[in-house]
Amino acid sequence: MIPRGLPGNFSVPDVLKSSKQLITGIFVKTMQKKINLKSLSRGQISVFLETQGLPKYRADQLLNWIYERYASSLEEITEFSKDLRTSLGEIAYIGNLAVVKRQRSSDGTEKFLFGLEDRQAVESVLIPDKDRLTLCISSQVGCAMGCSFCLTGKSGLIRNLRAWEILDQILSVNRLIKPKKITNIVLMGMGEPLANFEEVVDALKRIISFTGISKRKITLSTAGLAPKILELPKMAPDINLAISLNATTDTVRDRIMPINRKYPIRSLIDACRRYPLKPRRMITFEYVLISGINDSAEDARRLVRLLKGLRCKVNLIPLNPHEGSALQRPSDVSVLAFQRVLTDNNMTALIRESKGQDILAACGQLRGVYAGELEKNR
Ligand code: SAH
Ligand code: SF4
Repeated sequence: MIPRGLPGNFSVPDVLKSSKQLITGIFVKTMQKKINLKSLSRGQISVFLETQGLPKYRADQLLNWIYERYASSLEEITEFSKDLRTSLGEIAYIGNLAVVKRQRSSDGTEKFLFGLEDRQAVESVLIPDKDRLTLCISSQVGCAMGCSFCLTGKSGLIRNLRAWEILDQILSVNRLIKPKKITNIVLMGMGEPLANFEEVVDALKRIISFTGISKRKITLSTAGLAPKILELPKMAPDINLAISLNATTDTVRDRIMPINRKYPIRSLIDACRRYPLKPRRMITFEYVLISGINDSAEDARRLVRLLKGLRCKVNLIPLNPHEGSALQRPSDVSVLAFQRVLTDNNMTALIRESKGQDILAACGQLRGVYAGELEKNR
């Protein structure tokens, strides 16, 4: 049974007191405010319920309700008695991203604007394709990288997302599209995932453990934080890696992706060469084609030389222009000519027309801005 009364009354079994993480992560927090059950890992949920004197099967039930049935409040957990829900509700709650806005593009892509507990917001994009349902999720509110072609970077970094907020984008969309389920995840929404390394790694582990989406259906895209690319496989092995390369010389890359000044192309490609790949898997290089900046035949030839010997494919993304930027997308002829150089050199190179442009859901168009929408919907 859960003791009623103030959280401060809870006793922590001796066997648990040794866990510093638990003491600080759960119990100290408990003294101050309610615990968001979604912020706890599988193990922490078990321990937490155990310390409330609840039998083990309660943890399984709770996990099932949150992660399989997408319960968004304790009240929904009808398997728990009213008393149990009330007493648990005195110390804990199920946190949720608020669905502020849901927009549908003419091509079937959907964009979700989620409100966070501190009134910030992020966006996720759902892309249906044959039997696949891919969700493009955000890892940060804004982004500090300042790439010149990307709208997300314009407002700088506001804050990192917590692991549960990253995972909850998936749970929230799954809840809305029931009985369908997201099959693939790409970390290509707002933010630079490797700049929020710990929370992203934690989120990846939870996604794999809670949603049943396998590692090979998860892709993390990075602007190229070379040391973190080397660390990633140790912390979250076997997920797919995508690199936003976007230039073939340091001069150009320094200009359009300032992170290149810290980790120039050579160090980035070197990290990619050391990224462990399972058989038949490859690294994806994303290359946003910008007219007159990085789209020449010489660039294409340099790209071939740069990626030589790497098991990889190239996604060519003609720039999605946005207001206030002078950058332009190249003509279709130049895009095809660029692709031709790559394919003539036996490289796999696909032209990726970003989906959802009419609702600003395409690559580089996510901003997570809302004006009064949250208030309307809360
Ligand atoms: N920060 C990570 C992931 C988010 S950006 C990264 O940079 O990889 C996701 C992708 O959108 C990147 O490949 C980026 O190069 C691309 N992108 C950004 N702005 C774009 C734009 N205006 N047009 C087309 N693609 C863009
Ligand atoms: Fe950030 Fe990626 Fe946009 Fe660059 S392209 S500003 S790293 S989100």
